[in-house]
Amino acid sequence: MNNLLVTGGLGFIGSNFIRFLLNSGELETIINFDKQTYAGNPENLQDLENHESYKFIKGDICDREKVSRVLEECKIDGIVNFAAESHVDRSIDGPEPFVQTNVVGTLRLLEASKDYISNAVKEVRDTFRFLHVSTDEVYGSLEKDEPAFCETTPFAPNSPYSASKASADHLVRSYHHTFGLPTLTTNCSNNYGPYQFPEKLIPLMIMNASEGKSLPIYGDGSNIRDWLHVEDHCSGILSVLKKGIVGETYCIGGASEKTNMEVIDTLCEILDRKFPERTPHSKLKTFVKDRPGHDHRYAIDFSKIKNELDWAPSFSFEEGMEKTVDWYLSHQEWCENVTSGKYQRERLGSS
Ligand code: NAD
Repeated sequence: MNNLLVTGGLGFIGSNFIRFLLNSGELETIINFDKQTYAGNPENLQDLENHESYKFIKGDICDREKVSRVLEECKIDGIVNFAAESHVDRSIDGPEPFVQTNVVGTLRLLEASKDYISNAVKEVRDTFRFLHVSTDEVYGSLEKDEPAFCETTPFAPNSPYSASKASADHLVRSYHHTFGLPTLTTNCSNNYGPYQFPEKLIPLMIMNASEGKSLPIYGDGSNIRDWLHVEDHCSGILSVLKKGIVGETYCIGGASEKTNMEVIDTLCEILDRKFPERTPHSKLKTFVKDRPGHDHRYAIDFSKIKNELDWAPSFSFEEGMEKTVDWYLSHQEWCENVTSGKYQRERLGSS
């Protein structure tokens, strides 16, 4: 594979994935195709803008003609689809953009890919892969003692976000089954790490705690997520891209089930060590009304990718959190530009 199209590469995981690939030097060209919604932050890849293997194209995955043009002109031989509306709370307030990008956008990408490879030379037809990045939220919610989700767990999405992702996953499956499109799907647990938009739990808590602001906790803080450092997600995606069997799905997880309260307590302990004059940071915790339909527990059994593709997470939760706190503390300008909206004003001014 030489020319990879990454959609949604200005977002949290997509930008980490592009950074990870450029550092690995494995590909000739990476084309980042992103609509630059509120979640698409050009500052996430600012230091790599002039990298000889990197190219940015502003575009919407719903724009089928533009996607087709990019596939042809850039001689794409693989797609990794990160582009999505990704925040559950926003999907509760307004689900339409979720259906538009996550469902219709994925359909248009699939259609454009199908037409592209049917006209492509044999070499491209043989090697092309469409890797769709999805979430464990499609499987619904687990009770405390239920076994973790795996590839055969029936879908039971509970939020407009997870319902839109589940729909997209079904479409991807159908394009392999019906049209023979060489697809791969990954369903991953909650990610954390650098460049995550601060509406999500971990960056929000780090940024609030370091400024002495309150730490809002949904409900009683007992909701459980299986946390994975974003670099481990990136290495998992690359393993699936290189070695995954077409048509298959791979669950990716961190073997780090934590309640929201445990996550916040870990952050407070790290910050107590770094800023002893402000201890205890736990005094900033405040309980807020729970999210409607809040899934109680997610957990991933990643035996398949471990046994078949030899992938496993490399970060422990404690190591990953320490590194993540250090990143946010040492990237104050990035944090300020995101919270003030400056990154968006710059973007609007230049487009
Ligand atoms: P994000 O919200 O940080 O980034 C999404 C990116 O997609 C942004 O750059 C945005 O500009 C772009 N985008 C949105 N609509 C678009 C469109 N119509 N056309 C082109 N680009 C568009 O999301 P993220 O957290 O990086 O998640 C990336 C993917 O991984 C999503 O598909 C999400 O469902 C999945 N995922 C996320 C997590 C997580 O914990 N964040 C876990 C598992 C799976």
